[in-house]
Amino acid sequence: MNKPRPSFPARLDAKAPAARAPLLKVAGGVPMANRPAGLGMDSAAHRQRMVQLLQKQGVRDSAVLAAMASVERHRFVDSALVNQAYEDTSLPIGLGQTISKPGVVSRMIELLRNGAEGKLGRVLEIGTGCGYQAAVLSQLAQEVYSMERLRGLHEKARENLRTMRLPNVHLLFGDGMEGYARGAPYAAIIAAAGGEALPQAWVDQLAVGGRLVAPVVRDGFNGSGGQALLVLDKTSGGVRQTLLEAVHFVPLKSGVA
Ligand code: SAH
Repeated sequence: MNKPRPSFPARLDAKAPAARAPLLKVAGGVPMANRPAGLGMDSAAHRQRMVQLLQKQGVRDSAVLAAMASVERHRFVDSALVNQAYEDTSLPIGLGQTISKPGVVSRMIELLRNGAEGKLGRVLEIGTGCGYQAAVLSQLAQEVYSMERLRGLHEKARENLRTMRLPNVHLLFGDGMEGYARGAPYAAIIAAAGGEALPQAWVDQLAVGGRLVAPVVRDGFNGSGGQALLVLDKTSGGVRQTLLEAVHFVPLKSGVA
């Protein structure tokens, strides 16, 4: 279980499978992995560049940008993919699932915060995956409850987050479609997997004044059966739903495996 943490940049030797695979990214004509240290190729510089890209894409919330700059995304991906960790792309994390694109993570968390000053209260995340978004949320919320239905990924996230020592992140193994009533009410709920309908449990477990951001399947987005980003605000007068842009997430599934 104690596999070594990927270092950044990845060290590739001739025997490593990654050296044979066409995964080596070339920056400025020199493969990143082969650049000598001291050329600004440390992971903080890569994150800074990623953050500049996020700003260009329209992310404005400085707290979100700071969290994106601080969490080391390369720790959450397979060592063969470390050199792609700061590109705005989703990457496989095993069991057919993916780590979300930084652009989507920051967009959704910005929507979730909705310009809040200070930290959010308790946040429920559906779909821990490798734990990356939970780590970003830990910088912006008082408590993060993160649920995953696949035991293998729940354990992987636990391993990934172990050395980061984030006491406010609570990883839960279970079907997130039922939410997690014991932590309710939540100031915010964020889902990293999209289904046809929004589970009623999520709306029930959201605090009045709280906001939910989730992908939902809606015809007309990415063609029929595509997904759109849904923002739901719960007020004392009821719920208000807003559909935003088309997105592409793994499916929300029921039960555990
Ligand atoms: N948050 C992750 C993204 C993981 S992908 C990141 O930081 O990049 C979405 C995850 O949702 C997958 O791991 C998938 O197994 C999980 N998922 C799908 N349906 C679920 C459900 N009903 N309950 C909990 N997790 C679910």
